[in-house]
Amino acid sequence: MLASGLLAPLWLAAFVLARQLTPRDAKSNALYLDDIEPRDVNLKIISPAPDGRVPLFSWETTSIPPQQLSGTLQSKLGAVGQFLSIFEFADVDVSASKTTPPTYNLQGPGNCKVFPGDVKWPSPASWAALKLVTGGALLKPLPQASVCYANTGGSVSAAKCQAMAKSWTDPFAQLDDPLEMLSALYQGMTCQPPAIFNRTNTCLQGGYPTYVVKITNVAQIQLAINFARNTGIRLVIRNTGHDFSGKSGGAGALSIWTHHLKDVAYLPTYKDSSYTGSAIKVGVGVQGFELYAAMDKLSLVALGGECPTVGTAGGWIQGGGHSPVSSLWGMGADHALGFEVVTADGRLVTANKKMNPDLYWALRGGGGGTFGVVTSVIMRVHKDIPVTAVSWNYGTGPNVTAATFSAAFKDYLTTFPEGAKNGIYSYWNVFNFGGAMTFSMAPYFAAGKSLAETRALIEPHFTKLKSLGIPVTPKYTTFPGFHAAYNASFPVEAVNNKGIVTASRMFPKANWATPQAFNTMYTALWATIESGKAIIGYNISPTWARGGKQDTAVNPAWRTGIAYLITGFPHADLYASGAELLAERENFTRGTMESWRKLTPGSGAYLNEGDRIQPNFQWAFWGSHYPRLLEIKKRYDPFNLFYATTGVGSEFYEVRSETGYPDENGRLCVKARPEMYFAEGPEYVEGSEDA
Ligand SMILES: Cc1cc2nc3c(=O)[nH]c(=O)nc-3n(C[C@H](O)[C@H](O)[C@H](O)COP(=O)(O)OP(=O)(O)OC[C@H]3O[C@@H](n4cnc5c(N)ncnc54)[C@H](O)[C@@H]3O)c2cc1C
Repeated sequence: MLASGLLAPLWLAAFVLARQLTPRDAKSNALYLDDIEPRDVNLKIISPAPDGRVPLFSWETTSIPPQQLSGTLQSKLGAVGQFLSIFEFADVDVSASKTTPPTYNLQGPGNCKVFPGDVKWPSPASWAALKLVTGGALLKPLPQASVCYANTGGSVSAAKCQAMAKSWTDPFAQLDDPLEMLSALYQGMTCQPPAIFNRTNTCLQGGYPTYVVKITNVAQIQLAINFARNTGIRLVIRNTGHDFSGKSGGAGALSIWTHHLKDVAYLPTYKDSSYTGSAIKVGVGVQGFELYAAMDKLSLVALGGECPTVGTAGGWIQGGGHSPVSSLWGMGADHALGFEVVTADGRLVTANKKMNPDLYWALRGGGGGTFGVVTSVIMRVHKDIPVTAVSWNYGTGPNVTAATFSAAFKDYLTTFPEGAKNGIYSYWNVFNFGGAMTFSMAPYFAAGKSLAETRALIEPHFTKLKSLGIPVTPKYTTFPGFHAAYNASFPVEAVNNKGIVTASRMFPKANWATPQAFNTMYTALWATIESGKAIIGYNISPTWARGGKQDTAVNPAWRTGIAYLITGFPHADLYASGAELLAERENFTRGTMESWRKLTPGSGAYLNEGDRIQPNFQWAFWGSHYPRLLEIKKRYDPFNLFYATTGVGSEFYEVRSETGYPDENGRLCVKARPEMYFAEGPEYVEGSEDA
């Protein structure tokens, strides 16, 4: 619940990237976690059983063993018992069997997933049966902005519509909606408040799923999976909807919505073959701000995103997960000790070092929405540490020319190797508003560093700014622990940006190795800024050693990188045709992003914050891990039940978008000519970045 509805000012929202940052110094305009009423998760203390197994959450104990399906459902289905077959488990037990050849024959016309209106689309009685067996958890929601339009048959309210337009970018107003993908562009822009966008004066479902199961227990997940697999319809998984590419939605799909699985349990002692220490078990619906608050009570730190509202155990950890403490302790995925996951055959399995180790490996970085529905994760945690945070900003103006601004920004980039070596995580942005440029550090996060140590690292840069005649007043704050530092440093980030296309890239240490390499990189980055694009950047260094030397599927480009940069642009005219919009974004992908790729040969991009039309996404998001990931995908999902755009195995499928724009508004079909993985560099050798 919000104490005040203050988010990024609209003039800024029009320009910024998907994160829509609020300048750190404008605290009066930003919403901080301290402004929000705390929302406690259920925190318990548990111990592993003598055989090492960690107890399930109560809602995980409801899982249905395949042999008990009929007994469990007969009593519920009663008169509609003839529908039992649509809930049956797959014959093949994917975790017990060797790889069975994957099928590329879909049940809908044109080798597509069965779609609303198709002859094979489940009958109303089948949907009623699904509702019955899930205890009423099946929803058929209209898009939330349907309150603005008369065509849907839903209730219309001008007042609600107006209020919705106002809170459209506020994550807390969006996350409890069963459908919201937080990405209108990839939803297909078919139903937004008219004050924001209105192409047809109607509200259509577009890329929003058709049905949603609001999950409160594992049995519901199993039944939804079996239903989708047996009927041939599309299945999607949504937790919070934060994925940059709209991977939490899909037209004509049944959605498994895991947002309400909120428990956290503390394991004072956890032991496996390579770790002994404290750990936590986290329900997949728990969001960053909830987890941090729970850990604070235990004087511990768990890794989570810098964005408070991202779901920790869903797409974040499965996609790798960068965090404000990543330069000290590695990636989120490095901390996963085990998962509970419902696989495509409908069975609940454990994936850890002993059980289903290949699935465990894939879930640590291989991406969400691909290998199964995760219900909880066990994570390593760290003892709390003090933090020093610094923020500053400056911009062009009467006394600061663009050339001076550029010299200042360039000088800041020279600090990256030292920052990386010293465990600094910095989060900053550069904007160019028609020639007026701003730099904002929000924040320079020195976890575990004293004020004096932090000053020693960054003061030389302030000396340089002074010599350039740029007036800055850096604000240093020291905090006794992570939670207070986090709450004060990272405001709630806005969502549902207006038609902004983004892409990302990791920049390796090699770009700083010689003055020539550095200058070449800088020239290209400056060209990006001069072209009017913003850069949201990080000085971040989650090396393999810092992550605890874990064998994971995390993109090796994270290990070698010391900078992670995101850029993007807003489409000039969202009312242009799909083909025109596509041409504009291809220009970006093949233009600006190609120049970034040329600077960083063999490096990669972050799959959770990626370009939806990323060329050779397989290498860009996973590097040399990809071939192994694809084999695991084939083994654990031979039915190709799970599909995530640019996910592992997605090269064999395509969404046939209604407008031709790469969005989720269309049928999911087998692709005639898949674009296959090719290596863009040598195989990653763990720890080579530290050599
Ligand atoms: C404002 C903003 C800030 C962000 N900040 C950060 C950050 O600091 N660090 C960072 O690393 N990333 C960040 N991200 C990116 C974020 O990590 C990804 O969007 C992440 O995938 C979100 O996961 P989710 O489960 O919350 O969201 P969703 O969009 O619901 O899910 C993301 C993907 O995971 C799948 N998925 C969701 N739940 C499950 C499940 N239970 N089992 C299997 N698959 C599942 C979905 O199908 C989808 O493919 C940010 C994104 C935004 C929009």
